[in-house]
Amino acid sequence: MRAAAAGCETIIMTDIPLHFHWTYTAVDQAFWTEQLADWLPPRIIDAHTHVTDPRLRLRPMTEAMRRQYWVNEVFEPIDAPTAEHCHRTVFPGREVSCLVLGTPDLAYDIAGCNRYLQAECPGRGWYSLPAVRPQWTPDDVAALLDAPSVIGVKPYYNLISPDETTRDAHLEASIFEFLPHQILEVLDDRHAWVTLHVPKADRLGHADNVREVREIRRRYPHIVIVLAHLGRCYTEPHALEALPQFADDDGLYFDTSAVLNPASHRIALEHLGTQRLLYGSDNPVFYMRGRRQYRGRTYINRTSYPFHFNTDRESPETEARYTLMMYEDIRAIRQACEELGIRDRSAVAAIFHDNAARLMAGVMSHKRQRLGEQMS
Ligand SMILES: [Zn+2]
Repeated sequence: MRAAAAGCETIIMTDIPLHFHWTYTAVDQAFWTEQLADWLPPRIIDAHTHVTDPRLRLRPMTEAMRRQYWVNEVFEPIDAPTAEHCHRTVFPGREVSCLVLGTPDLAYDIAGCNRYLQAECPGRGWYSLPAVRPQWTPDDVAALLDAPSVIGVKPYYNLISPDETTRDAHLEASIFEFLPHQILEVLDDRHAWVTLHVPKADRLGHADNVREVREIRRRYPHIVIVLAHLGRCYTEPHALEALPQFADDDGLYFDTSAVLNPASHRIALEHLGTQRLLYGSDNPVFYMRGRRQYRGRTYINRTSYPFHFNTDRESPETEARYTLMMYEDIRAIRQACEELGIRDRSAVAAIFHDNAARLMAGVMSHKRQRLGEQMS
């Protein structure tokens, strides 16, 4: 990075490579300074991020798959050193840690990806949630949970069985098809953490999801359940139909990842409060530049790179002002807090650090106690 001093601030002269097509530019630096730097707390935990050794990809992404789903075009695996470099770049002056989720994609060597995280996380002070397949035995899962940096698991419906023609083969599955009871029993016994990406085109508000999440909470009360992406409530109608239904369960948590919509964050804050929300980026996807727009129950991603999905481009002047979508995401959380009059610094610190830190400490304390009892 070449930089020149101007007053007390350092202005970026050259773009800093982040990952894939994405760079950190003077636009991002200005956005950070003007919109985020004075609001974010000094310590940040990203409770939903993905790190993968790119060499563990078994089958290449096909052109047909790239055209089918926008995430297929932008989910380019990021290794641990690059992820660490990106954290330092996008959160200057902050102490950043993270909870890394395994790679929920059968085009990868899933077990190899889990081992990669076990090797890369401890030295960086990161925790991980290995991806688990529903076919794995309780002993397989118990062995995963014994690794030092592992605090739980990441199940996903696409890990039920491979399908190279569509990403939606298992979209309508029951949660118990990809997170079966025999695995839930081990997780409950270990007081472990599960970040759960709920199935169904209708997202969290689908009656089966509501019933199954409640059943998991009732039968396995020691598991730390974190519903990813606010239960996939990216739009206001989805958030309104789902989130109020969980207002009364203080022990159920949600991560904010991939939700760029201030209305969704506002509804989450109104119905869940500040103590049940965990900041997450879902990076590397949201190093993408651009913004998201909404129509009813759908959204469109606007970006400045000529991806297949990016057919309806905005003007060059507008695109030149795009910042990282992860910055748009954080600004949306800030906007929601301000609309609700949440100005308490401790509330912001809870979302961006303290809630995740408290839950991680709880899992680790149980794990140490258990290992201590085994030794004695
Ligand atoms: Zn994710």
